[in-house]
Amino acid sequence: MKLVHIKQIKGSRSLYGTFLYITLLPLVLFGVILMIYSSITLTRNIQTEVSSNLRNVCVAVLAAYDVSYEGDYNVMIVDGVVEFYKGDTFLSNDHTLLDNIKEDTDVDISMFFYDTRVLTTITDGDGNRFINTGANATILNTVVGKRTSSFYNNVYIGNGKYFAYYMPIISKDGLTCLGMIGAATPANGVASMVRSSVIRNILIMLLALLVTAWAIMHFTSEIIMIIKKIMKFLSEISGGDLNTELDPLVISRQDELGEMGRLTNKLRASLRKLIERDALTGIYNRRYGSKKLADLISKGIPYSAAIGDIDFFKKFNDKFGHDCGDAVLIEVAKTLSEHMRSYGFAARWGGEEFLLVFENISGMSATIACERVLDAVRERLVEHDGQYHSVTMSFGVTQGRPELTLDENINAADERLYEAKENGRNQVVGE
Ligand code: GH3
Ligand code: MG
Ligand code: MG
Repeated sequence: MKLVHIKQIKGSRSLYGTFLYITLLPLVLFGVILMIYSSITLTRNIQTEVSSNLRNVCVAVLAAYDVSYEGDYNVMIVDGVVEFYKGDTFLSNDHTLLDNIKEDTDVDISMFFYDTRVLTTITDGDGNRFINTGANATILNTVVGKRTSSFYNNVYIGNGKYFAYYMPIISKDGLTCLGMIGAATPANGVASMVRSSVIRNILIMLLALLVTAWAIMHFTSEIIMIIKKIMKFLSEISGGDLNTELDPLVISRQDELGEMGRLTNKLRASLRKLIERDALTGIYNRRYGSKKLADLISKGIPYSAAIGDIDFFKKFNDKFGHDCGDAVLIEVAKTLSEHMRSYGFAARWGGEEFLLVFENISGMSATIACERVLDAVRERLVEHDGQYHSVTMSFGVTQGRPELTLDENINAADERLYEAKENGRNQVVGE
């Protein structure tokens, strides 16, 4: 048998490469875009949340002061020292309320009278509060100048960077902006919160990406494996091996690949029929009959062979027509192959001649068996155009001799067939 080499296609030109290219590339691109977008959104959301928390602290502090002390905020400068009041209550140096809120919320608070920080929870390394320090001009301009609450993510107080929310302090009559309150939280705390959220987000997405990529690769390699099985099957068929079997895994699939496998299997069956069977009668043809006999001989299995020929078939054709002759040929072939099933096999040898092969049967036994086959042929009535016909046959039987070639053995059977014809036909001449 000729082995057909299956071309190994690798890399981007292979179906596997193409599949991965068209599925994984968009997936990775989509994943990266999603990661960037969600990281930006996450950062923004965290900042918005921080801003809202800081704003709440500002509102809470102002409310607490308003509940505790009546009147507006004001200052008095005594000997160059700024003294901070709410109504008549002296507030400078009294950081109790701010410190308590800081303890509860972990947020630093500063109160500004106009541009001066008069109360604060923020201290330097030695524990000194940053009081009487000035406010950032830009912030002051927006919050006090324009009376607009504002959030900043890059405010420097002392040496530290803060996220801060500032709210204007308006006099009771609503006419004057007296200063502002600021709530701040260290930027590195927020940054590490953002970082850990973003990293967690990215890790979850990477995991999802990996699982999806694995599923795609798994699915793709399964498809490719099935295609390769079909390719191997086709290569064996094109190499001439029509006995090869397609993996049941392919045939049992309910999808298009399974259908492709089943069709390929049918193709093999059709090819086999075309190559092995005679077109008119459906029994083995001469080529396949010879091959089967040669296989038998090569395995050393003893056999007997007979050549049978329909008697006066030319006349039959002439009398009843070629179509009627065909119908008879079909029925004779059927009778022979049915009866030969238990002995060996029958093949159409040519025109109205047939080869019968008896496996593991002596010449004498084959001759007796052949008589029975001839009886069956004689008894078979073939209906054609409302008429019933029967034919007789002559057979020559020989026991296969290992010292002779296949052709020589067949010739021996042929000679006996000639003898049968000479002796008046409708008979078996054997051992
Ligand atoms: P004999 O008894 O000596 O064998 O006589 P015969 O007429 O059978 O022998 P011959 O070899 O003279 O004729 C064989 C005939 O078989 C000739 C041909 O028309 C017929 N034949 C061969 N193949 C076919 C076929 O496929 N269909 C039909 N209808 N007839 C066929
Ligand atoms: Mg003939
Ligand atoms: Mg004949």
